[in-house]
Amino acid sequence: MEELIGSLSTLQAAMSSPVSARAPLQILVVLSPGNRLDHQNECEQLGVPAEWSVIYDPDFVEDELHRRAYDLVLWRISRERQKLPELQRLLHWTHPLPPLVVIAPCENRGSSATEELLELVGHSLRDFCFDDEPEILIRAIRRILAEQTERRAMDRFRQLLESAPDAIIEVDADGTIVLLNGITEQLFGYSQEELLGQSVERLVPDELRERHARHRAKYAANPVTRPMGSGLDLYGRRKDGTRFPVEISLSPVKSAEGSRVSVIIRDVSERKKAEEQIREMQDRYTAQLAGANRKLEARNVEVERANRLKSEFLASMSHELRTPLHTITGFAQLLAEEVAGELNAKQKRFVDHIHRDSLHLLDLINGILDISKIEAGKLELHPENFNGIDALGEVISSIAPLAAAKAISLEQQASTVFTIHADRLRFKQILYNLLSNAVKFTPHGGKVSIVCSTTGAWVEVSVTDTGVGIPKEEQAAIFDKFYQVGSTTRGVPEGTGLGLAITKRLVELHGGRLWLASEPGAGSCFSFTLPF
Ligand code: ADP
Repeated sequence: MEELIGSLSTLQAAMSSPVSARAPLQILVVLSPGNRLDHQNECEQLGVPAEWSVIYDPDFVEDELHRRAYDLVLWRISRERQKLPELQRLLHWTHPLPPLVVIAPCENRGSSATEELLELVGHSLRDFCFDDEPEILIRAIRRILAEQTERRAMDRFRQLLESAPDAIIEVDADGTIVLLNGITEQLFGYSQEELLGQSVERLVPDELRERHARHRAKYAANPVTRPMGSGLDLYGRRKDGTRFPVEISLSPVKSAEGSRVSVIIRDVSERKKAEEQIREMQDRYTAQLAGANRKLEARNVEVERANRLKSEFLASMSHELRTPLHTITGFAQLLAEEVAGELNAKQKRFVDHIHRDSLHLLDLINGILDISKIEAGKLELHPENFNGIDALGEVISSIAPLAAAKAISLEQQASTVFTIHADRLRFKQILYNLLSNAVKFTPHGGKVSIVCSTTGAWVEVSVTDTGVGIPKEEQAAIFDKFYQVGSTTRGVPEGTGLGLAITKRLVELHGGRLWLASEPGAGSCFSFTLPF
């Protein structure tokens, strides 16, 4: 046993692969009765990852081999007991036996029993040595371990090959298949025997074989790991002649038998089907979208036409209405001024009603005319450079009588003379709307102030009043057509609900902005900007 331990230690040093990386070697030592072995101690000295089991009664060897998988059996023959029916039985065992080394005592060299034993062992191709021949033991165990390492590597390789989700084949320089895994058999419908030794082109559809062979020759000239035929549609051919789309990856393999190529083949039928479905869906969707767009365009044309007709109708109606209204307003005024004779109090009141309401109607018609022009995109601006202070002065003088009637003070703060680039008439209309609202919604004795300032490329004008103010929740809506705040207009007649809608659009047509800050009960401040 000492020799054996010595041999294994030598072996450990001789093994190129790190011994500790291996699973511990399972060694069964068979001793004959009377032999003694302190194996614990020897294991520690050995340093090779090995698990030792010792049997002192050869009768139990078979049971032990059934019980546990061993890597190596060392059977030590005792000097006294050379005839071993147990060993004979074992050597004729029908079960696969682990590697076995029979070690005979050197004292028995040349005895007839040993000769018989030697013949028996040689016959069964097992290893044999005398216990004074450590080098033979070393060689035997080294070979056994090498075989075992190779077997394990092969098993691992096979496992890897079989657990891969793709078909893997290896071909030699002529394109002959030398190795394949189970998935290859499943995928192509051939058995291993039908493919080994055959040309790889057997797996390629007839019409693509020539291209494939050309490609193979090209790859041999520059063998690097890469996908095959990128950009090309690749197909495999099953035994039944059907074809299916594949993706192929190639890697060169250097082996003792020469240059080979390992080929990984992936069946991409499902993916291609999904891609096809997505493409079909996209096409359908695009067609639907195009149809919807065409409908929408037709509808837009229709809507535009209807809008234009509406605007034209409103414009002509307003025009038609304005002419007689001017007449009504004019004659009502003449009557009120008693040009055609004196009126009694009742007649005067009636005439005032006619005059006031016809003015209101005129306002409404003008408003509708403006808004319909703006909405139809037909309102033309005639921008010019003009003095903003002058224009402001003109608006203030036309508002002043209304303010004076309610004892409202009108204040104007404009720093310097400033030039505005805008449509002068529309600028005045904007100002007039804001100022007349401010006066309209400010109670008797209140105050309305106008502040003009210039910032960068903009003139900013604010009209602030001490009037009824506008609740937060209504502040956006007042810029809608015909919207009037119920609480503010109570008691304030004559509104049309169009003024702010028009004002906002006019400011925006100039490229400016109109906004509002207001607190109910504390007044409102409308501000707008125009190009400076
Ligand atoms: P209207 O002809 O009724 O004045 P506008 O479009 O000019 O129409 O104004 C819409 C509504 O906004 C008004 O009816 C009023 O309720 C509110 N509003 C406008 N300006 C003011 C203001 N300065 N103070 C309080 N409420 C105002």
